[in-house]
Amino acid sequence: MICDVAIIGAGVVSAQTALQLVRRGMRVTVIDMAEPGSEQAASFGNAGWLSSHSVLPPASPGVWKQIPKWLMDPLGPLTVRFPYAIQATPWLLNYLRAADSFDKLRETARVLRSLIKDGPALHEAVAQEVGAHDLIDAHSGLVHAFPDKSHYDNAPFGWKVRRELGIALEELDAQALHAKVPHLSDAYRFGVFMPEAGHCKSPGQYVQRIFEHLHAHGLQFVRARALGIQRQGGGTVTVKTTQGDVACAHVVVAAGVWSKALAASVGDRLPLESERGYHVMLPGTDLKGPAIPLMLEDRKVVINQMTDGVRCAGQVEIAGVDAAPNWRRADILRRHLLESFPRLAGASGDAPATSVWLGHRPSTYDGIPVIGPSPRCAQVFYACGHGHVGLVGSARTGQLVAQGIAGETPAIDMQPFSIRRFQ
Ligand SMILES: Cc1cc2nc3c(=O)[nH]c(=O)nc-3n(C[C@H](O)[C@H](O)[C@H](O)COP(=O)(O)OP(=O)(O)OC[C@H]3O[C@@H](n4cnc5c(N)ncnc54)[C@H](O)[C@@H]3O)c2cc1C
Repeated sequence: MICDVAIIGAGVVSAQTALQLVRRGMRVTVIDMAEPGSEQAASFGNAGWLSSHSVLPPASPGVWKQIPKWLMDPLGPLTVRFPYAIQATPWLLNYLRAADSFDKLRETARVLRSLIKDGPALHEAVAQEVGAHDLIDAHSGLVHAFPDKSHYDNAPFGWKVRRELGIALEELDAQALHAKVPHLSDAYRFGVFMPEAGHCKSPGQYVQRIFEHLHAHGLQFVRARALGIQRQGGGTVTVKTTQGDVACAHVVVAAGVWSKALAASVGDRLPLESERGYHVMLPGTDLKGPAIPLMLEDRKVVINQMTDGVRCAGQVEIAGVDAAPNWRRADILRRHLLESFPRLAGASGDAPATSVWLGHRPSTYDGIPVIGPSPRCAQVFYACGHGHVGLVGSARTGQLVAQGIAGETPAIDMQPFSIRRFQ
């Protein structure tokens, strides 16, 4: 098979990239061992936040002091499984090092902001184009809920950086918080409303819809596992797959956390680690009303009313890609959900979860995605490593990759996203 561009992976980053390439009249083939929008992809089960203010990585100066407490807490947001921890140690140390000064974090925030600033608006435009307007609400805003104002005052740096970047936010006293999020437990007495952000009501369906649109516009889909990338003479590259070779002028590596092995086949070092996360869904509709998704800051979970139920997502588990899920993590999320929305506990507390899910955030240790060409082979482009912001960041990423392949001027400075920083 011969095409202009082969994209490895069919998650949301691939979907957005393919859309941009097809718009430019290119013949695009997407390769994935599973159907677009299915469960193995991080893009399926995420929390659906289009949070253009998610500019800070989870690590911060001094965070290591909290790690022992989190690791000891069975309800805590972070777990590192042994013996995998030994293998992950270099990545974990780099992760802490990349966030060991406020200057470094400020710079990361500036770079991430350039990528995700217009996320809600870009997704709204895509949703209009592909007929998914019912799945994207770019104007809902998002809420961060705190037990009280002192929790917010004790974490000043992130909020200060957001203000420095010009991100609007509104502080909510208890009354204003509960007016925005009815049924939230009285244990939450303070909130911050982010008016510029939005959300997706079904991330998996969103990916499916984009691909349905693309199929109707000539996209080819090859259901196969990509095994590696080989340079050929005459300006072509070949993707070796379990179903044969796909020859093309350009390859985009958009295989989420699995991109690491594909980069190695080109000779590029791509230090990705899975920050495993979980979700649980209950059928209740009790949370409807203002339909504003929220993050419980003390529990580090996001709660979002989806098209088919209430989703609670979060947790970071470092255990590698292949380890079996620990469904106790999903039980913990269920507990957080029911404790923070007691009325939901009354309505659906005994109902079986409609979905429990484990997904792999494809995370670089510096919290910045990898977007742009390979230094070893200019025909290979990376579009991966989006960690916690892959949904919101995917629309701009797709545009940047397409601009690079088409030889257009990129919409933002691409240098901070280059894979060269790891070579
Ligand atoms: C619990 C949780 C909550 C999250 N919440 C949010 C949120 O609210 N907002 C946000 O912006 N982000 C969020 N994220 C992050 C976001 O989901 C990811 O960053 C994003 O989905 C990554 O998309 P991707 O397309 O790069 O990778 P994926 O969605 O993982 O897709 C990769 C695809 O590549 C395929 N593939 C892998 N290897 C091969 C191969 N060798 N050959 C062919 N195909 C291959 C896989 O089958 C898969 O379909 C969350 C993540 C988690 C886990």
